[in-house]
Amino acid sequence: MKISVSLLSSYLYCSRKLFLEKVLLLEEPPKESLVLGSIRHETYDNINKKEEEIVTSIKKRTTLENLEVLYKQNYLQILRKAIANNRKRLEEVNINMLEAYKKSFPFIMEESSIRANNIFNFIKTNNVFGDELWQKLTPKILSELRVESEELKLKGIIDQVHVYDNEYVPFELKTGRTPSDGVWPSHRIQIAAYSLLLQEKFNKQIKEGFVVYLDSKEKRHITINPFMKQEVKQIVDDIIALLESKELPDFCNNENKCKKCGLRQTCYNEEEINNLLKIRIA
Ligand code: SF4
Repeated sequence: MKISVSLLSSYLYCSRKLFLEKVLLLEEPPKESLVLGSIRHETYDNINKKEEEIVTSIKKRTTLENLEVLYKQNYLQILRKAIANNRKRLEEVNINMLEAYKKSFPFIMEESSIRANNIFNFIKTNNVFGDELWQKLTPKILSELRVESEELKLKGIIDQVHVYDNEYVPFELKTGRTPSDGVWPSHRIQIAAYSLLLQEKFNKQIKEGFVVYLDSKEKRHITINPFMKQEVKQIVDDIIALLESKELPDFCNNENKCKKCGLRQTCYNEEEINNLLKIRIA
């Protein structure tokens, strides 16, 4: 049995919620923030896939302004497509496509400027263009990289892996609140799990990873240490035991989490829960 890395963070957030979703098969109703987050995610993934095409199309020295226009045109097209792909989900949370566009626009503009600046500076230093520019450019960004391991009993898709000459660095892109310091524990464990999976796939030591909090535009660093393997393995075993068990975990005892939880009503309704337990587990 291999479990998805995303379950590790769900488990750390609230094991009861994970049980309700995976064992009692309850589904959380859609939320505005989740739908906008998915649009942004899809846009960033496609931006990374487009990178080679954009970079190899630069055949001669040009101004920073021209590079910014090149990136912005491409990215806005990608954003519009992502919004159209999520049209039905936007309707479910009462947001129209124009509103979604206005809310996502600033992030895309910012990303265009960052990438245009990076390329501009790389060209200035290395004086290379087209295919040669793409080949020499570091880091290269692999997007949506699939990884899995029998030994770790894990599988997942890493948002981004930045590949340097001899080094792989996993990146997770997250929407939602940014912690005042460091990263949320669930994000730390996710990066640790991806590092182990990358290590196995490429046979390279992974030294660090990053979580990018898209709403605050903050990039937070995580140092990978040897103890993380045991920590990840323990959580995986706990999750497998939970999914195979018939025991509903206790409440998470965190008012803030429960307030925001889409399964709150059912979770606190003893009768409904008992009925579900009988149907799904009996
Ligand atoms: S309401 Fe609270 S305890 Fe219940 S599943 Fe949601 S977060 Fe967990």
